[in-house]
Amino acid sequence: MMSLDESPEFDVVVCGGGPAGICAAIAAAREGARGLLVERNGFLGGTATLGLVIFGMYGPEDQRLVDGIPEEIIQEMVGLKAAVAHVPHFRWNRFTTFEPWALKVAAERLARACDVRLLYHTTILGVHTAIASGDDGERIRCLEVWNKGGRSRLRAKVFIDATGEADIVAAAGVPCVLGHNEDGIPQSPTMVFRLAGFDKDRFVRYLEDHPEELRHPVEAIRDNEYYGFCGFNATLRHFNQEHGLNMPRSFICFHCMPDKKDISMVATRFSRFNPLSADSLTEAEIEMRRQAVELVGLLKEHVPGFDQVRMLGMAHQLGA
Ligand SMILES: Cc1cc2nc3c(=O)[nH]c(=O)nc-3n(C[C@H](O)[C@H](O)[C@H](O)COP(=O)(O)OP(=O)(O)OC[C@H]3O[C@@H](n4cnc5c(N)ncnc54)[C@H](O)[C@@H]3O)c2cc1C
Repeated sequence: MMSLDESPEFDVVVCGGGPAGICAAIAAAREGARGLLVERNGFLGGTATLGLVIFGMYGPEDQRLVDGIPEEIIQEMVGLKAAVAHVPHFRWNRFTTFEPWALKVAAERLARACDVRLLYHTTILGVHTAIASGDDGERIRCLEVWNKGGRSRLRAKVFIDATGEADIVAAAGVPCVLGHNEDGIPQSPTMVFRLAGFDKDRFVRYLEDHPEELRHPVEAIRDNEYYGFCGFNATLRHFNQEHGLNMPRSFICFHCMPDKKDISMVATRFSRFNPLSADSLTEAEIEMRRQAVELVGLLKEHVPGFDQVRMLGMAHQLGA
């Protein structure tokens, strides 16, 4: 193991390469800090890449809520012709749909352009704290990390916890809160999946005859080039009661991808979830893949517009 004295000292070590870590590392580097970003996966983007999410940067009054580095990343993805930015959405006002690979590439380009050092395939195992002279409390002195080279330590003046789950903060012994304030239960996760070969025109004709399927005006999907949908209350009830789907949701949503014949579906759900238990995480991953496969089979069979779809991919990781 590399000793504390042997490891170089960085100004900033950012723990985790999701949206928060990317922005923190780039912002620090642009201020002249010598920084390192540590990420357990082999790419940037975190849940935004792994979980197949979309970005929403505007509020309900069409006011911009997020700008700056996130917008630079979006424009880089647009330049890669793999994102469509800020198109209207009935629920989120505007949304940005993108191919997950593009987020990896765009974030790396911006990070490398300002000399952020990236260290992939490295898991942070814990922290070492110490009371430094002049300080009034303990500070994180170094991280203990593991990769295929073995265990080592990383020293820095400042550590930024961007693990998405406060792993570093918790490892340092700072009290953390899990779930909602009232009952401690966290949001139920979903596993997004993507379908190719969706026929929007046929589906819209079906919706015009079945307005009970919609949770919004049909125009939201019919009249928008890039569209979203929320509904299927009746269909889901039918699938659950008559076809044993057993999916604990009352409605589902989907939106189109940059290629408009591809859709990304937020449909699966796992209740009774404990994100601190590997058993619970494992069960959730398996159960939501089952739901996705069975739901797609039923949609193909019963709903016009879905007959030719095929599974393009599932999120590599659940999320909420
Ligand atoms: C379907 C879905 C819809 C969502 N919708 C929204 C939404 O509308 N609005 C919203 O704000 N959010 C939404 N989210 C959540 C969104 O993905 C997160 O807000 C966002 O990704 C958080 O970014 P982050 O950088 O904080 O964490 P993450 O994206 O989780 O990134 C954390 C990174 O840290 C790395 N990491 C963690 N632990 C370690 C370790 N010990 N060692 C090394 N690396 C580590 C992980 O690999 C990951 O890359 C949604 C998520 C899903 C799945």
